[in-house]
Amino acid sequence: MPTTAIVWFRRELRVHDLPALHDAHEAHDRVVPLFVFDDRLLAGRFASGSRTRFMIDCLRELDGALKERGSGLVVRQGDDVVGEVVAVAREANADAVYWTSDAAPYARSRDIRATEALEEAGIAARPRAGSYCADVSRPRTKNGKPFTVFTPFWKAWEPLERREVHGAPRDLGPLPSSLRKGRIPSLDALGLADEVPEPVVEAGEAAAREMMNRWLRGPIDDYGTRQDDLTGGTSMLSPALRWGLVSPRELEARARERPGAGAAAFVRQLAWRDFYAHVLLLHPGNLRHEYQERFRSLEWETDDELLDAWREGRTGYPLVDAGMRQLARTGWMHNRARMVVGSFLTKDLHLDWRHGEAHFERLLLDGEPSQNNGNWQWVASTGIDPAPYFRRMFNPILQAEKFDPDGEYVRRWVPELAGVHGKRIFRPWTMTDDEQQAASCVIGEHYPAPVVDHKEERERAMERYRAASSG
Ligand code: FAD
Repeated sequence: MPTTAIVWFRRELRVHDLPALHDAHEAHDRVVPLFVFDDRLLAGRFASGSRTRFMIDCLRELDGALKERGSGLVVRQGDDVVGEVVAVAREANADAVYWTSDAAPYARSRDIRATEALEEAGIAARPRAGSYCADVSRPRTKNGKPFTVFTPFWKAWEPLERREVHGAPRDLGPLPSSLRKGRIPSLDALGLADEVPEPVVEAGEAAAREMMNRWLRGPIDDYGTRQDDLTGGTSMLSPALRWGLVSPRELEARARERPGAGAAAFVRQLAWRDFYAHVLLLHPGNLRHEYQERFRSLEWETDDELLDAWREGRTGYPLVDAGMRQLARTGWMHNRARMVVGSFLTKDLHLDWRHGEAHFERLLLDGEPSQNNGNWQWVASTGIDPAPYFRRMFNPILQAEKFDPDGEYVRRWVPELAGVHGKRIFRPWTMTDDEQQAASCVIGEHYPAPVVDHKEERERAMERYRAASSG
């Protein structure tokens, strides 16, 4: 009797180098690809219309790639995802369900429930790797503890065994004729709205692979020297990694084939991604509270006007505003800008980093709990990072001078400042009246004066963190 396996897709929407798909295809006569729209996630804490739109476009393309292989995507929706998976497995007469393991607490508890329910139904549960370069559950310190510092993690991560990279299966066999296929719903039907007008990258595996190939053919070589350059220099592959449009393992393997410091620096950055997955896997409570206990007593201020000014890119600090507007328009922000806006929210405005985490999750196409939370706690100095809080207080003016020396990034995202000349772009409030007229940018009218004084707020932040540390 021919055997059937379900491949339950979640956030790895590709056919190349996907162990769940590869293994199901190797071991079974027929593969039934399944995606379940999870009402709880769609309405949950990390919901995002823009990211869901991106996902829908990726799913449409995945459906096409599966059709080319003689199959197609079966779609279901509901608030009992596990129940839907078991029901489809029963309908398709499947012996096994394959999926890609994940690090986030919600995914982990869902997968435990799925394993139990499938076993009860006499169907094998077969979780597989595929979201990270290495097995992020494995690295341990000499004392057998999870890592809380990146560099030693990286040293333990480097020699970890890596799985083989696979291509895409050619023929998956037809779907069972009796199985209802279902439809990919529209964003409207899901009750969500797309807020990002110019997505930074195209959705789908084909475009992501093309981007990866282009990156690996040349630009990666300059990564070591250009990664902080605000107008370029990074791969922009984060949405593709977030949605599993490219395999991190394949990307790592191919980057390692490339000689030079650029490729090595890039692989190290992929290790950061694995690191934050490791951190959340072993410290799931980080999604609820500060990792460092002493900072759980930090009293954050409340100021809706300042929070709105930050969200909308109206703080009067050009680099902060450019970053926030890049995010709002494209669903992506350069890492250097993410650090600067994060520091500004928590240490200049003294507002809770969770507001930043939530705003990023709403808009980022690469928004993902382990990466977002890990980085926000890093920037707020409440996380696993051993550096003292005063090392993470970024001066938004100096950062702009250093990483956007010609003001190109600022002028692109803050058009009110396009006519501001020379070094005034870093401190537009210092323009004379004549300069403001010449630049068609009157401070307070066309572009805001700074909402706070960085120097003063830095001192206040030092006091607040010092008090919490010693209290
Ligand atoms: P590249 O510089 O080309 O790096 C290649 C890949 O390495 C990235 O795609 C990413 O997967 C990984 N990487 C690079 N930097 C980091 C880092 N600091 N932490 C973890 N992985 C990294 N990244 C996300 O993927 N999702 C998030 O939700 C997210 N939230 C963030 C929030 C804050 C406050 C900060 C400071 C950073 C956040 N990052 C997040 C990390 C980083 O900013 C992005 O991964 C990076 O900007 C993506 O651009 P890129 O693909 O061009 O990166």
